[in-house]
Amino acid sequence: MKKLIVFCFTLIAWQNAMAYRLTTDFENGFYWSSFPVNFIVMDTDPNRLQLITALANNAVQEWEDAITEGLWNISSQQGSPVSNRNIIRWSTKFGKETGLAESSTLAVAVRYTKGPYVARAEIIINGNHPLNGIQEHLNTVLVHELGHILGLDHSENGDAVMAAQLQQRYQGLHWDDQNGMDYTVGETKRRQLIGFVSPLASSGETTEESPLSCGTVDMSGGSSGGGGGSNPIFSLGLGLLLALLALKSPFKGRAA
Ligand SMILES: [Zn+2]
Repeated sequence: MKKLIVFCFTLIAWQNAMAYRLTTDFENGFYWSSFPVNFIVMDTDPNRLQLITALANNAVQEWEDAITEGLWNISSQQGSPVSNRNIIRWSTKFGKETGLAESSTLAVAVRYTKGPYVARAEIIINGNHPLNGIQEHLNTVLVHELGHILGLDHSENGDAVMAAQLQQRYQGLHWDDQNGMDYTVGETKRRQLIGFVSPLASSGETTEESPLSCGTVDMSGGSSGGGGGSNPIFSLGLGLLLALLALKSPFKGRAA
C-alpha cells in the first residue's frame, strides 16, 4: 500500500514538473539582454489604443504581482505601427500577415533574434476575431502573449493561462504559470550575468526571425489538454510528441 502511494506521488510530481514548456528559441539559448522589456502599443485609433494599453498594463501587473519584479514596460503611441520596436498591435489583416487561421487564432507572439539575444518582439492581435472585442478575453490573450515574449511556450496544464486554449473563465495566473515564469526569468538572468552566447547564435549583424514561438490561443477545439482524466503517461507521451513536432516544425508552423 505504501509503495503504491509513493508511486502515485512520484508520477504526479513528475507530471507537474513537465507542465510548463519553453519556446524553442529560449531552449536554444536566446534571451533578452535586460529587463524590463520595453513595449509600445501602436494604433491609429485613439480609443483602441487607450484600451489595449490599459489591458496590456493590467496583464503586466498580473505577472509582476506573481513574480514581484519589473519585466515589461508598456507605453503607447498613436499612429501606424513601426517595425523596429517591440510593439503590440491590432491587425485587421491577421490571416494574411501571419498565415494563421483567423477563425481560431486570437493573437501571435513573434520573437526576432540578433546574435545571442532576442532583439525585438511583436504581439499581433487578430482584429477579426470577435473574442478580441471582449475586454475580459483580450486581457487574457495579452497575459498569455506576454508569457511567450519571455520564453514560455504552451503549457500542458489546461488550467494555466499559458495553455494553448483560451480560458473562458480566466481567474488569474495558475501556479504552473508562476513556476514557468520563475524559471524563465531566473534562467534569463543567469544568462545575462555570464554573458551566455548560444552555440546557435549568428555572428552576423542582420536580425533574423526566430521560429514562431506561438501560433494560437484556440477556442475551437473544446478539449483541453489530455481531457479530464489527465493520465500522466498520456500527458508525457503527448508532451514528447509535441516537443518532437516543435523541433521539426518550420517557421510559421502552428504550435498547437
Ligand atoms: Zn500561445
